[in-house]
Amino acid sequence: MSEDRRRTLLLKALRAQGIADERVLAAIARVPREAFVEQPFADQAYADQALPISCGQTISQPYVVALMTEALRVEAPHRVLEIGTGSGYQTAVLSQLCKDVYTIERFRSLAEAAEERFIRLGLFNITRQVGDGTEGMPEGAPFDRIMVTAAARQIPEALLQQLGPGGIMVAPVEERPGKQNLWRITRGEQGFTSEHLMPVRFVPLVEGLPGGG
Ligand code: SAH
Repeated sequence: MSEDRRRTLLLKALRAQGIADERVLAAIARVPREAFVEQPFADQAYADQALPISCGQTISQPYVVALMTEALRVEAPHRVLEIGTGSGYQTAVLSQLCKDVYTIERFRSLAEAAEERFIRLGLFNITRQVGDGTEGMPEGAPFDRIMVTAAARQIPEALLQQLGPGGIMVAPVEERPGKQNLWRITRGEQGFTSEHLMPVRFVPLVEGLPGGG
């Protein structure tokens, strides 16, 4: 089956699962997921599943990427911060929907591989950084939207602080070991409100940089 055909089937499956935002579906249609998976999994690029990438991490399942992107309500003028670049796939999808995307990854090798993909695909509105995403990117704050793609016990305070007025964050939280839920946090005039979206499974959000890094 051709990649185009597989991509069409994936989009159909995403619609069937309730993804309705045409801008999000178009963004997913434009980003070649096969460019973000490791070679041994190339033929599974359009299966709706998470896949292993290097450094013991994963590229998220397309349905989860679609749902999180839709839940973030990204608009064209927005500046979006993503924590956990990983393969860069989610970053690339976000880059289709807004002015600027900033993404932080703690593994330098993943960040560099992702950057090569962004360049190859001509995605020039992405700024990537190697660092500890639990600290956010203070020099770029405030952000209109923040997406966290690794799970912590609590949403890091720095990220809440870097969300602008009216801003929205989507983040998984590991409430207890093995039990994670996805939340949408909105920063309103009266403070933060949170909405539960669904149970999820993400790799952990780890503080600090890996040794040698
Ligand atoms: N959005 C990614 C999902 C990658 S998995 C994709 O579409 O492929 C989550 C990523 O978060 C991993 O690469 C992991 O190394 C990274 N991560 C975990 N803790 C982090 C932290 N404190 N700062 C930055 N990145 C982190």
